[in-house]
Parts: sequence; C-alpha cells; structure tokens
Amino acid sequence: MVKNMRDAVVVVVGGGPAGSFSAFELARRGLDAEVFEEHQSIGVPSHCSGHLSIRSLRGLGLYPLPAGVVENTFCAANFYSPNGSKFSVHLNQPVTCAVNREKLDVFLAEKAKKAGAEYTVGSRIQSLIMVGSAVKGVRVVRGNGAEEAVLAKVVVDAEGISSRLLRQAGLRPLNATALVYGVEAEVDRADEVEEHAVEVYVGADYAPGFYGWLIPRPDGSAKIGLATKMGNPKELLQRLMRRHPAASRQLKNSKVTKMTFHPITLGGTIPQAYGDGFLAVGDCASQVKPTTGGGVVFSLTCAQIAAEVAAEALQKGDVSSDALQPYQKRFIDKVGFDVDVMLRARRAIDSFSDEKLDRAVRFAAKMGFGNVLRDVDEIDFQGRTLLSVLRKPSAYATLAYLLALYLPI
Ligand SMILES: Cc1cc2nc3c(=O)[nH]c(=O)nc-3n(C[C@H](O)[C@H](O)[C@H](O)COP(=O)(O)OP(=O)(O)OC[C@H]3O[C@@H](n4cnc5c(N)ncnc54)[C@H](O)[C@@H]3O)c2cc1C
Repeated sequence: MVKNMRDAVVVVVGGGPAGSFSAFELARRGLDAEVFEEHQSIGVPSHCSGHLSIRSLRGLGLYPLPAGVVENTFCAANFYSPNGSKFSVHLNQPVTCAVNREKLDVFLAEKAKKAGAEYTVGSRIQSLIMVGSAVKGVRVVRGNGAEEAVLAKVVVDAEGISSRLLRQAGLRPLNATALVYGVEAEVDRADEVEEHAVEVYVGADYAPGFYGWLIPRPDGSAKIGLATKMGNPKELLQRLMRRHPAASRQLKNSKVTKMTFHPITLGGTIPQAYGDGFLAVGDCASQVKPTTGGGVVFSLTCAQIAAEVAAEALQKGDVSSDALQPYQKRFIDKVGFDVDVMLRARRAIDSFSDEKLDRAVRFAAKMGFGNVLRDVDEIDFQGRTLLSVLRKPSAYATLAYLLALYLPI
C-alpha cells in the first residue's frame, strides 16, 4: 500500500545516459527534475563497450571529457572476414574514443546534479500513475520496500531496453524481432593489436546477424564482445576467442576478467515516443543505430530534444500528447534519415553469406578501399556519410562503406 504522496515537476526514470542528460537539459532550463535509479550506484553494472564518436560528443558539448573517462582514442579499424582475411581502414585523425561507461554515467549524473537535478538511487519505479490515458506520476519502491507515489507533470522514461513503462503508457514497444543479444567482456591482455585500432570480426559461426569486436586499452587489456541473433552469446564469445583465425591468435594468452549480457535493439526508432505527460528517450524508444547497435550518442541527442520540448510544453501549461508531439518530429528530423539508411544497410549486411564476406574483404583490401574512407569523420549520423562516400567516383566505394559500417560500435 502506498503511504506517501508528493509532487515533482518532471520525474526521470533511470540514471543512464538518456536519463541523466535529460535531467541536465531540464535542470539547466530551471526546471525541477528528479531522477530515480533502481541501482544503488550510477553506472553499475555496465554492459556497454563505450565506443563513441568524438565529433558527436563535441557537438553535444561533452568533449573533451574529464580525465579518466576516455580510455583510448581510435583512428583505425581492422575488419576480419570469417576465414581471417583482413581489411584495414586508417583515418587521418582519431574519430572515435572508448569511454569507461561507469565513469561516463557518473560524469553525466554529476553534471545534472550541478545544474540542479535531484537523484534518488536504490529506488525502482514500479509503475506509472495513469488517469485515463494520461501519465500523472510514478509509483516508487525504495530499497527497504517502502512505496511512495510521486505525482509529476511530465514523466521522462529513460528505463533502457526493458521498455516496461512504455507499454504501461499505452505505446507500442520496440520491435522484439529486431533484438540481438550482446555479451561484453574484459580481457587482461590482447596480443598483436594496434593500440589505436578497433578490431571487428564477422561471420555466422561467431556472431550470426551481428559482429564481434575488440577495443584495446593502452595498458594492453581490452574490451571484447559480440552480439547475436541466435545461440548463446557466451558460447559464441568462447568460440570467437578460441577458433576465429584472427581473434584466437590475438586472445590466446588472455584471461576474461569480467562478462555481462544485455540485448541491443536494431529495429529503428519506435513509431511514437510521446503520450499525455510522457516522453520516452534512449534504448526504450529504440534510439539506437541499426548498423552497429551504438545507442549512447543517439540517446544523448534525443534527450536534449526531449528536455527542450518538455520545457516548452510546461511553459505553456499544456503537457498533453499534442503538446509533446514535436519531440517525435524533431528527433526524426535529426536522426530519422540516418536510421532509415542504416536499416537498409543492416538488411543488406544481414543477407551477406560468409563466402561473400570473405570475397568482399579480400577484394576491398586488394583494391585499397581503406584509403577512400580516410577523410570520413562522421560516425553516428551515418546516412550522410554514406551519401558522401557514394559521391566518390568509384562504385566500389559503396562496398567499402558497407564494410566500414562496422567500424563504430
Ligand atoms: C554489449 C553491448 C555493447 C554496447 N556497446 C556500445 C558502444 O560501444 N557504444 C554505444 O554507443 N552503445 C553501445 N551499446 C548500447 C548502449 O549501451 C545503450 O544504447 C545505452 O546504454 C542506452 O542508454 P539509456 O540511458 O537509454 O539506457 P541504459 O544505459 O540501459 O540506462 C537505463 C537506466 O535505467 C535504470 N532503470 C531501468 N528500469 C528502471 C526502473 N523501473 N526504475 C528506476 N531505474 C530504472 C537502469 O538501472 C539503468 O541505469 C552497447 C550495448 C550492449 C548490450
């Protein structure tokens, strides 16, 4: 039974990147934002490799990041076909970085707190308070089991991929058939890898429907992972480490020190991410790149837009679905074209057989396609990059670009 009831202006569900950046953007506009995070600590447990575009982080005002958050920067990728053929892309400057996700999440939460947002950790949002089809607040369960009702003018749902509350709000959840199942692990050492290159492995035997990756750290350790449409991700990772012609060489002396599992949504953004008094941001709205599964930059981008629209609606005193609808339009304007192009690329890539991948990688390496991509620096908004590469004289650039879609994770 709920004993306590109180009011907030905006309740944010979840202290991940989408939640904390929404809270920061709300608080810096002078709005009262309260974040509820079910875990006791922000950023824990992390399931993410934290491979992010430097240019996009800069565009969001988040780069350079504080010391310790960035573990490495990358200006190259080595792409391995199922039989171990290699195609390398070297860019003129670092375009991506790998962050420590726990530290990034803590940094974003501290930034939101400094702007005035409040955090309550160890408290799970059990359900939405609904009046008809309108969201009017949340029911919170504290770590000690106590329940509380918090009424809010707007609830920002940043709960991640479970999208439980999204369904309660009456919205269509993300496309479950477009999920892949990820495993992210840490190893104490990786041999024969370049310090500033990510390694990408494809092949149906190792990562059916997706790919595997290795992200080195300067101290010689690395993050490795893969996602798969079918099969057991842990067994597939073991197979990648033991049997893949390139990965098995690089990881033959490695010890796995940590392993986590989590799904990734590749189906493109949900058709409606707003309702009466409700906005959905980040993984729960499937704001994730369908090519690579990267969701952090899209989450942050959409969080900014959600806060902007919520602030406008609150100022007008109208938080109805109609008043919050511009959120969908603005985020589609920002990422919709790229998501559409990436969905098409994803379908094309999924249809490649292992033999075709082997041939394509050998061919791309022989023709030196890595050089066509040397100037590419747009990673998160890939549709525009695809177009810029297509404008290159050679039609083969298309093939090279499809392969390079695997570059960022
Ligand atoms: C294996 C793997 C590797 C990945 N690597 C990358 C990468 O390299 N680069 C990249 O950009 N993306 C990557 N991603 C995707 C990325 O992790 C997500 O897109 C990103 O974390 C989405 O942020 P979010 O804030 O929406 O959700 P989350 O980060 O999942 O945060 C949601 C938060 O809400 C909290 N929460 C959930 N329910 C409740 C509740 N009811 N009450 C209170 N709190 C709640 C959770 O505890 C969590 O803290 C990877 C994903 C996986 C699975």
